Amino acid sequence: MGLTIAAIRTGFDAVGTLPEGAFHTTLDEQLICPKCDASYNLIVDYQASVGRHFGEESRKLIMLLKKAIFMGHSDGHRVVHFETSGVVVRSFGVEVEKKRIVKGSDLIQ
Ligand SMILES: [Zn+2]
Repeated sequence: MGLTIAAIRTGFDAVGTLPEGAFHTTLDEQLICPKCDASYNLIVDYQASVGRHFGEESRKLIMLLKKAIFMGHSDGHRVVHFETSGVVVRSFGVEVEKKRIVKGSDLIQ
């Protein structure tokens, strides 16, 4: 079973299933969009996170997630949950936040 890392946007719940494992842990490292203040927490199986080669194994996955988050900026970071085991990055649940500005004049019409 290879390493899987999920990145979940701060303030949002996981939308897809989390990586396999009985206990999950959040890594100290957060991924932050270089263009805005959107941040993502990295979730992994606890057992995997204490493995001897975790630092090395996780580096490539974190790079992929970073890239996916950066690309998600143009989309308003609607994807709140990414997951990768190294080959592809899967995105889960696109949350659409509709921000409508209601002006006083709209109400009169
Ligand atoms: Zn951004």
